[in-house]
Amino acid sequence: MKLLLPTSTAGSLPKPSWLAEPEKIWSPWALEGAHLIEAKQDALRLTLQEQMHAGIDIVSDGEQTRQHFVTTFIEHLDGVDFEKRKTVRIRNRYEASVPSVVGSVSRQKPVFVDDAKFLRQQTDQPIKWALPGPMTMIDTLYDGHYKSREKLAWEFAKILNQEARELEAAGVDIIQFDEPAFNVFFDDVNDWGIATLERAIEGLKCETAVHICYGYGIKANNDWKKTLGSEWRQYEQAFPKLQQSNIDIVSLECQNSHVPMDLIELIRGKKVMIGAIDVATNAIETPEEVANTLRKALQFVDADKLYPSTNCGMAPLSRDVARGKLAALSAGAAIARQELTV
Ligand SMILES: [Zn+2]
Repeated sequence: MKLLLPTSTAGSLPKPSWLAEPEKIWSPWALEGAHLIEAKQDALRLTLQEQMHAGIDIVSDGEQTRQHFVTTFIEHLDGVDFEKRKTVRIRNRYEASVPSVVGSVSRQKPVFVDDAKFLRQQTDQPIKWALPGPMTMIDTLYDGHYKSREKLAWEFAKILNQEARELEAAGVDIIQFDEPAFNVFFDDVNDWGIATLERAIEGLKCETAVHICYGYGIKANNDWKKTLGSEWRQYEQAFPKLQQSNIDIVSLECQNSHVPMDLIELIRGKKVMIGAIDVATNAIETPEEVANTLRKALQFVDADKLYPSTNCGMAPLSRDVARGKLAALSAGAAIARQELTV
């Protein structure tokens, strides 16, 4: 029988301090060369072991081999100059120094495929691999070449499709595209954002997911959330078109957020990864709190389509807190599962 309510995380998990400075995003590596490669693989083994120990069903690499969920992918592409940096506003929220697009973008060789093969060798459990989505990629760059957000997004979608096909061949079960930008640029999402995402998944036979969140638990995001009022209805903008799209799974932020749960009705028919773990607080949820969020979601998602997960990545948290949250997710899902099967 297929397991009900399989658990997973949105993506990143904390790195050990011997690999990179902890509790920080864009944290520099602590090692170089062959030592770094070995350390990344050791960290991947550890993060996998911790997920399995916590009882997580769909496991990932915890993004141990990448510095940042968007930048590391872009670093491997031609046409982007990392020396030529410009300051831009990311998701209209905070300023960051980002690389520039200086020519046609292309992928000369696979970016994460060796890492995915390595993860595949370590476990027989289903694995999920995260890639940045086209819209979030263009939002983390200065474009002095195409001078069109849409054009650049289509180019990235083609490149992502090449990478995704090779990840599928490496044995990845679910390929997830991270699109926090879907919660910000609503007109673009509906004009071409979802279309470029569908270009990125063209021809794939494995399952595909899109992760749309309110960001890591960092100050700029937490401050932004304070301006959003008591009801966060951002998802309402993209959901009708997403419901019509070929994406299989939608990954959402639901724990401690002000997202009205009934918005999920708008994507009825899709599988939904429900964020039942808040990544912006060190307080560890009780299993009962997790179960409660899942119970609420079950009013709008069929039980066989509900995947308990985290609101976002846990990279900026301490390892202890992240371990506690993984265990709470697993225990909370077990309570909800039990209620469904009696
Ligand atoms: Zn996220």
